[in-house]
Parts: sequence; structure tokens; C-alpha cells
Amino acid sequence: MLDQINRIREDAQSAIASVDSPEALEAFRVKFLVRKGIIAQLFDQLRDVPPGEKPALGKALNELRNHVQQLFDGKAAILQKGTESAVSIDLSLPGRRGYLGSKHPLTQTLDEIKSIFIGMGFGIADGPELEDDYHNFGALNFPPDHPARDMQDTFFISKTALLRTHTSPVQIRVMENHPPPVRVIMPGRVYRNEAVSARSLSAFYQVEGLYVNTGVTFSELKGTLVAFARQFYGRDIKYRFVPSFFPFTEPSAEMYITCFLCKGKGCRMCKQTGWLEVLGCGMVDPSVFRSVGYDPERYTGYAFGMGIDRTAALRYGVDDLRLFYESDIRFLNQF
Ligand SMILES: [Zn+2]
Repeated sequence: MLDQINRIREDAQSAIASVDSPEALEAFRVKFLVRKGIIAQLFDQLRDVPPGEKPALGKALNELRNHVQQLFDGKAAILQKGTESAVSIDLSLPGRRGYLGSKHPLTQTLDEIKSIFIGMGFGIADGPELEDDYHNFGALNFPPDHPARDMQDTFFISKTALLRTHTSPVQIRVMENHPPPVRVIMPGRVYRNEAVSARSLSAFYQVEGLYVNTGVTFSELKGTLVAFARQFYGRDIKYRFVPSFFPFTEPSAEMYITCFLCKGKGCRMCKQTGWLEVLGCGMVDPSVFRSVGYDPERYTGYAFGMGIDRTAALRYGVDDLRLFYESDIRFLNQF
């Protein structure tokens, strides 16, 4: 009988090793551990053995039963764990899709404006957002009491330090540091003390351009801007220049193009006029040249500027400028 016990122990050990499913485990239990299983049958035979051998065989049988029970419990625990991890990694689920980002619509717009002007020979200049009164106003022909300052109310940090209201101070800084000829565009963030609404923001982006050389004419300004507008807004646009006022240019103009939404018929976007104002421009005022040490008798130049937010809004038909700054993924996904 001892031989049988040893053989069953070996059988159970090799059987448990190949158990890899709850069904196989159940078969193992039925074979070895139930009331009619082979170990229980040996217990039954214990009645027939001579009384002298009973204690030793009984002990061996108990050990066998405990050992096989342990094999069963161990495998059951392993299988249970396997089921749990199979639940947490469900291979039949579709994978998580990675989000593909894109450039912000304002960055896209600025990139395109930059590449058009770079293609026409312009360089790019940068300047500080925290400016002094002189570079933001004084050197640009805004006298201290001039009403044009009201149009550009800003955030003063101290009596003389302020957040720039336009990128024009960069024009002054470029001209202070470079003799003519100068041909650059100046993109950057600007600030105005304005109530935030669908049509105005207290912080937004501008890009300005400046060309100074001997004999620069208004027709060159016009030609450059028309070439830009055709590339940016479309070949078939119509345009017009309307006289305007800026302290730092003389003469000054605003450029309009036919509304590309209604093709000039009149709609909400163009306030029923059929025209959209796209930028301001003009010939640099001689007093600006004097303040940077250029000889106004020798040099002439033109300057122009546009709001990038407004340009992007026109281009994409966005009717509320605040949308550009709300980081709403449903809005940004469209670009
Ligand atoms: Zn229109």
C-alpha cells in the first residue's frame, strides 16, 4: 500500500503541473480529492490492513491527502490570479487612440504671413513687450497730450514703463540700431486697456512691417500689400485704400478687400458694406526718422500693421475673438 501512496503522490504532482484551466483543475479534484476519489478509496482499504500496519499507513495517507490538497489550493490560487489579470487587460478592447496635435490657428496665420513677407525679402525683428513711454509713444510722434493716445490706452507699470500697445516700438529700436536700408516685419504680443468682448481683447497679436531706403514710394507700399493680400486672401480679391490717420505715418491709409464671405454683396461679417478692413499703413512720418537719427531729406519709407487675431478671425470666419484664447479643444480641433 505504501507503494500505491508514493505512486499517487507522483501522479498528483505531474498531473497538477499540466493543469492550466479551471476545467482541468476540477478534473484533478474529481480524480484525487472527492469522496469517491483514489485517495478516499485507499482510506477505505485501510480497514483491511493488519492492525500493526495501520498507524504508519494512516499517517502516510493523511500526509498524501494534505499534500494533494495543497497542490490543488496552490494551483487554484494561480488560476484565480490569472483570471483577474485577464480582466484588467482585455485584449479584445479597441486601443486608446493617440491625439495628434496641430498648430494654434493664430500661429498658423502668423506663420503664413511671415513666409509671404520673407519671400518678398523681409527679415524678422523682435522687441520687448514691456516698453518705455518714449519708444511706445514719444518717438512715434505721439506727443504727451495727443488724443491718439486715448485710442491706445494701456497698462502702466510705472509712470514711464508700460505694456506696449503696438509692435511699432520695435520699428524705433530697429532704426536706432541699424542704418538704412531696413526691411523687416515685427510680429508680437501687444496690450490695450480695453474691456474684453467678442471684438476686442486686452492682449492680442500684431505684425507690422517697415521698409526704409532712398526713394521708397507709396506705390511700392501699395504693390507690396496687394501682393501680400493676393497670396493670403486669394488671387481674385478686389481692394481699396482709404485715407486714415496714424501719428507715425503721413499719408496714412487703411486697406480694404472685398468681403470673401459675400463677395461684396453685403453680409453680417462686413457689416453690409461688402468690404473688410485688413490693415493700416502709410509713409513713415519724417519726425519719426528725425527721432531715430535718419535724414528725412534722404530717406523715405513705408510701414504697415495688422492684428493677427483679427486677420485669423476674418480668414476662418470666427465671430468671437475670445475663442482663440479659451483653449477649447472642440474649437481648436477645426484647424
Ligand atoms: Zn460680406
